[in-house]
Amino acid sequence: MEEYRISDEVYEQIKDFYARTLTKEQELLVDNLILNKEINERYKTYGLCKGCKQPRSSNNWCRPCASKRFQQDFKNWTSGNHIIDEFIQRIQLEANGFYEILEWTEYNAFENVEYLDLQLLIKQCGKNQDLYYRGILKIMDGLDTWKEELL
Ligand SMILES: [Zn+2]
Repeated sequence: MEEYRISDEVYEQIKDFYARTLTKEQELLVDNLILNKEINERYKTYGLCKGCKQPRSSNNWCRPCASKRFQQDFKNWTSGNHIIDEFIQRIQLEANGFYEILEWTEYNAFENVEYLDLQLLIKQCGKNQDLYYRGILKIMDGLDTWKEELL
């Protein structure tokens, strides 16, 4: 199925609206211009991305544009382990917001590194076990277990 895209012409007509607080007239125009229900709702909820001229995929986030930027940066870093690289790359390509991003950081970029065992780390993460922490835990847990889960 062809992905529904709003045309440049439509973009020009609605780009200056405050998507979340449309006037009645603006909303009527938007409803007439964006017939695809999902795209219409995405526009009204998240507004437009200036990069690709399409409605964003979440708050302050355009997944296609973010994925493209991450992909262009793949050649600039490596953990030295292709399994970890692929894991981080996949997280980056599928992220739905800043809170889901995982990035490789060289060990020597950290200061005052303190050893935490896995139990302590889990405790410190508490209820805030989002994707970021799961990524760390999977890596810490050893390659075999999380590799299986990812493939
Ligand atoms: Zn975009």
